[in-house]
Amino acid sequence: MGGRTLPAVRILFLDVDGVLNRAAFQPEDTFELAGWIEPELAARLDAAVREVEAEIVMSSDWRIDRPLEELRAQLAHAGIGVGLRGMTPVLAGQPRWREIEAWMVEHHAHPEDIVIVDDAPTMGPLGRRHVQTSPHDGLDETAVAAIRAMFSPG
Ligand SMILES: [Mg+2]
Repeated sequence: MGGRTLPAVRILFLDVDGVLNRAAFQPEDTFELAGWIEPELAARLDAAVREVEAEIVMSSDWRIDRPLEELRAQLAHAGIGVGLRGMTPVLAGQPRWREIEAWMVEHHAHPEDIVIVDDAPTMGPLGRRHVQTSPHDGLDETAVAAIRAMFSPG
């Protein structure tokens, strides 16, 4: 009564290798992140994130030792202009889902408001929110449909 409930921010936890590039991809620039992002897959991600009105949190190992501003610039350079909200903490020796879970706890994010896009085989107890890509196909239309479905209530 009385209060207005703000819509929760939707978060897409983003892996890079196996999501934004495919196993057969040969980059020209192997050093910078942008060089490892395939334009076709970047465009697909950008469109999908805009469609579901989510923001990106980087969970890829590419975030390690890179400031957020650099990641943001690299994504933009690769054609991903949607909001990069942050990155998961690096927890040495922990599986990736623990790092994602830590971010969710810190930011009070509910599982219903997140999707994890990653080619890793398991996301532990967060598996229900995992869109697993194939490293051979990366972010294909099947994966986009799964993202859409996870953010569609009911
Ligand atoms: Mg990967």
